Amino acid sequence: MHTFRQRFLVTQTVTLVVAMFGALTGFLVGRNILLKDAEARLEQFATRVLTETEMSATESRAVLGRMNASPYPSCSDAEVDYFRKLIFHSEYLKDGGRIRDGQIDCSATLGRLDQPRARYQPDFSRPDGTRIYRNLSPFQIAGQTVISVQLGGSFVVYSPFTLRRLESPSMHYTVTDVGGVQSGHLTGELPPTGESILYREGDARLGDTLYATRCAGRFFSCMTTYASIPETLRVRQRELVAFILIGGLCGAVVGLLISVFYIRREGIEQKLRRAIAKDALRVVYQPIVDLSSRRIIGAEALARWTDEDELVVDPDVFIKIAEQRGFVGAITKLVVKHVLHDFAETLRSSPDFHISVNIAAADLSDPTFVPMLEESLAQAGVKPQGVAIEITESYTARRQVAMDAILRLRRSGHSVHIDDFGTGYSSLSYLQDLSVDAIKIDRSFTRAIGTEAVTVAILPQILAMAEALKLQVIVEGIETREQAGYFSALSQPILAQGWLFGRAVAAEELRRLLTENWILSANTMQA
Ligand code: C2E
Ligand code: MG
Ligand code: MG
Repeated sequence: MHTFRQRFLVTQTVTLVVAMFGALTGFLVGRNILLKDAEARLEQFATRVLTETEMSATESRAVLGRMNASPYPSCSDAEVDYFRKLIFHSEYLKDGGRIRDGQIDCSATLGRLDQPRARYQPDFSRPDGTRIYRNLSPFQIAGQTVISVQLGGSFVVYSPFTLRRLESPSMHYTVTDVGGVQSGHLTGELPPTGESILYREGDARLGDTLYATRCAGRFFSCMTTYASIPETLRVRQRELVAFILIGGLCGAVVGLLISVFYIRREGIEQKLRRAIAKDALRVVYQPIVDLSSRRIIGAEALARWTDEDELVVDPDVFIKIAEQRGFVGAITKLVVKHVLHDFAETLRSSPDFHISVNIAAADLSDPTFVPMLEESLAQAGVKPQGVAIEITESYTARRQVAMDAILRLRRSGHSVHIDDFGTGYSSLSYLQDLSVDAIKIDRSFTRAIGTEAVTVAILPQILAMAEALKLQVIVEGIETREQAGYFSALSQPILAQGWLFGRAVAAEELRRLLTENWILSANTMQA
């Protein structure tokens, strides 16, 4: 038995382990959701940068066009004044003027420049005739990249702050020139990779960085927005922690439930083992009647267990536990012992009467089972014909094992019945191979009588098949006269079991019923 300390330890360990697993799952799920969200934001950011760049480029082209079409003498006061007005009304430009052979002649903010002047080389020359200069010295701002564009004899200078205002703490951008031979970085911060993602549209996750690139072919540039994964997660640390906590909490609850279930199950198993050792299981007997004469011709032995806490445990539950834990054979043994104790004399004196015993799959493959049965019967002086063996249909799935066991049992003189027939594995030919004596039609078929259920349509086929194979038919679960009537109308002999004829009762009660001239009382029949 588990001590309190052991239970506490099991609960604590399982809860902790599953909680940790939950927290890890929470972290992974949270990380994935946050990164997906970051990717979506990055794409939006890239689209915004692209829109802004396109708008500023469109404006600069328009302004350059108007500058080149200036009606004033080059760099005259009137022209410089004209340029000032154009720049003043622009949204994205901070200066503009005249440039010749890389030398600035005049601009809206600088006015007319005198000799000597610096000569600048464009950083990029594009197929449409535009030339791009990065950081022309008169317009330099520390820490910023200032772009100037020349078209014809005019140039404009972009304000470097247009795109910067779109930035967020975890999202950065870079603009790449893709127009000419010397393509490359135009403005923005340089990302950790110089990969091809900067030159083509698309999204990517490279190393620790997320990228989204949108290109404006018309202006020969691509905008790449990027975010470092650790930085993104750091910025959204609170949300990530929330995911971890929720995952951990869910894990702890699941862990707690698992350990409670485990302890309870372990508890039941130990209690059941003790009950078997102390012979504390009871066996009750449900009558099986001949439907035409309504005489009791046999009974099914059914195990019953009320645990130490006075709780009645369903046989479906405790038989399953015993099967899973490998000690169901002990229950079969116990039931056989009870049957012989309760009915050896009746069986000896009434050769037409039999008791059916349910056996488990494990008994079929246990080589000691048949010898044990024979020895017990021999000791009690009961012939094997007095004890029928019920094998649940699903247990016969291991065909060869089932066939061998059935053969051995029948050779010994037992009648073998396939229990819960129609619920699983037996096909017609399979049934022939198994060579059994009877089928017990599952109570789901009986329940379907008088309803529209498809199972009713199968019943005549099962009955015809049983008749053709000369198999005895026992119908389970007859509760109503309508159900009994359905089977009594058949020409073939039917044995029946169900609450209409009697529930499972203690041995003394069955013996009393048997002594009542082997026939069920009229009262019971009319109930
Ligand atoms: P089973 O062998 O098919 O047993 C028949 C079940 O149908 C019994 O349930 C019985 O009480 C129930 N029954 C009988 N007539 C009616 C009826 O008219 N209507 C309804 N609704 N039910 C009826 P029980 O005793 O709860 O047993 C359930 C299952 O547990 C059995 O099904 C059998 O598979 C298993 N079992 C019971 N005792 C033993 C045992 O000693 N050894 C093994 N291996 N299995 C057992
Ligand atoms: Mg049965
Ligand atoms: Mg059954």
